[in-house]
Amino acid sequence: MKLRIAGIVTDSIVDGPGIRVAIFAQGCFHACPGCHNPHTHDANGGTEMDVEEIMAEIGRARYIQGVTFTGGEPFLQAKGFAELARRVKAADLHLVVYSGYTFEGLIEMGRKEPEIIQILSMADWLVDGPYKAEQRDLTLPFRGSRNQRILLSAQSLASGQAIPAIE
Ligand code: SF4
Repeated sequence: MKLRIAGIVTDSIVDGPGIRVAIFAQGCFHACPGCHNPHTHDANGGTEMDVEEIMAEIGRARYIQGVTFTGGEPFLQAKGFAELARRVKAADLHLVVYSGYTFEGLIEMGRKEPEIIQILSMADWLVDGPYKAEQRDLTLPFRGSRNQRILLSAQSLASGQAIPAIE
C-alpha cells in the first residue's frame, strides 16, 4: 500500500506527547490562511512511500513514544493511513492524528469511506479542525489555534461525541 508523503521527522516534540515520528501527508484542500506547511497542499507533490518503508523508518527511530499523522490532510489518503495505523498500533505505539476536518465532519465522511472510521477507532488522539489565524494562540500545546481540539479519538467515536484528551 503506497502513501504520498511530504516528509518524515523522526524526533518531533511538537506533534503530541513525548518524542515522536511525525509523518507528513502530502495533499490538502483546506487552504487555511496562514498555513505553515503550504508545500504539503499539492496532491501530486511529495514522494510515494510504501507502508513497509514508513514502518522501517519508524523502526529505526530511537526513544520514541509514538507516531503522529499530520500534513497535509491524512484523511485524504484514508485507505493507506488506515493500513499504517494498523501497523503502528500492532507495534504498540501511541498514535496521534491531525486533521483539518472536525471530528463531526469525519464521522459524516466515514459513512461513505469506512477507512476514516477505522483510523478514528485506532488513534489515541485526534487533533481536529482547520488552523484559524484569527484564533492563533502560541501557548496551546500541540496545536496552532483555539478552535482546534485534542480529543480522545477511539472513546469519542465509541460514545458519538467529542471527548477532550486535554484542554
Ligand atoms: S489543514 Fe493544515 S496543512 Fe491543510 S491548509 Fe490547514 S493548516 Fe495547512
